[in-house]
Amino acid sequence: MANYSKLTPPTEGEKITIQNKKLHIPDNPIIPFITGDGIGPDIMKATRRVVDASVEKVFKSKKKIVWFEIFAGELAQQKYGELLPEDTLTAIKEYYIALKGPLTTPVGGGFRSLNVTLRQVLDLFACVRPVKYIKGVPSPVKRPEDMDVVIFRENTEDVYAGIEWQQGSAEAKKVIDFIKKEFNITIREDSGIGIKPISIFATKRLMRAALDYAIKLNRKSITIVHKGNIMKYTEGAFRDWCYETALQEYRDKVLTEKELSDKYNGKAPAGKIVIKDRIADSMLQQILTRTADYDVIVLPNLNGDYLSDAAAAQVGGLGLAPGANIGEYIGLFEATHGTAPKYANKDVINPGSLILSACLMLEYMEWTECSNLIKAAIEKTILQKTVTYDLARLLDNATEIGTTAFADAIIKNL
Ligand code: NAP
Repeated sequence: MANYSKLTPPTEGEKITIQNKKLHIPDNPIIPFITGDGIGPDIMKATRRVVDASVEKVFKSKKKIVWFEIFAGELAQQKYGELLPEDTLTAIKEYYIALKGPLTTPVGGGFRSLNVTLRQVLDLFACVRPVKYIKGVPSPVKRPEDMDVVIFRENTEDVYAGIEWQQGSAEAKKVIDFIKKEFNITIREDSGIGIKPISIFATKRLMRAALDYAIKLNRKSITIVHKGNIMKYTEGAFRDWCYETALQEYRDKVLTEKELSDKYNGKAPAGKIVIKDRIADSMLQQILTRTADYDVIVLPNLNGDYLSDAAAAQVGGLGLAPGANIGEYIGLFEATHGTAPKYANKDVINPGSLILSACLMLEYMEWTECSNLIKAAIEKTILQKTVTYDLARLLDNATEIGTTAFADAIIKNL
């Protein structure tokens, strides 16, 4: 067992292990969780209760998650005097699967985003966000049911890599001088500087993850989204390397959009995944106007961030937008939204996004029956119009309830 400075792992339960290059999930896996800041405590409590109730319902007493609290953000600051202690990283590496509440990141100066740091340090290279309509959820669009996409956002590179220097710093001046001297390119002296690296390695492993997922789940198409018309050697290259991966490594499973119209008259043969690409700005329109045309979507980090929230809005907003950060084996599951500080400790916020993230976790563990049960219960609860404020304000004749009561209603409907 790893050495921890301030954590004591549970004495009951077993560790998830790797066997034959696959995760092996025992009947009583130890799963670490980070409560999170702001609304974190409210939604984490609700989520764990719903998950435990579904596991009990499906497996009776044969299987059970043994939760193990680990710390990041404000709670870590209180316990360790730092925001992201080594203990936390060690525990996630040791136990492979973890559930995470949102963590605060101040805009501008101060510290780097803990969320981004976690993804980078643990090399969680794919941020996977399924966006699918749940019946009964109020939506701002006419046909929200057309939305059923899975977004694969690159998680370690792009302008999110954290290679940036503050305006006025010696480092920013050095970079500006270097670019002037070496390339004769003038950057305004009062500029802040950020660097956008996009590599073959990170792009191809993301595309492979998306292709493997699409094949496993019989999805119809993968759309590569990029801004390659402007940023040719980063975003444009991202598109080219994604195509290269599909056409060189998965040739028998894929066809391009051009092949689809030239050879197949627009109708893909069974079992073939259509690979297409769209420019990012156009994609933000397309997802709204031609929603049903999109299935699995692969993007670099920043565009992935924008598209995830935009797509989530179409099916009812951030209260129901789950996410997973996946590495080689490690899976860190978290809601798409942040800490919504104005609702902290008020027991009013919608825990749906974290509960659905826990569903992704259960699917990752291949406890899919539990996930299906929870998703059906959420739908039933929303159709009964007993919902949290965010949905109640958009629904006619809804009964507004708090976070705990919403979790109770879901548990009752399991
Ligand atoms: P936010 O926390 O996502 O909240 C923005 C708004 O989205 C809320 O005011 C609320 O809108 C709605 N919302 C968020 N979560 C909801 C939920 N569970 N149910 C219903 N509505 C929900 O974004 P932010 O205010 O920009 O960010 C706050 C902090 O969170 C920042 O420090 C940011 O860096 C951090 N953050 C962390 C993560 C992460 O941990 N992965 C992700 C994003 C942001 P209404 O007020 O209209 O109800």
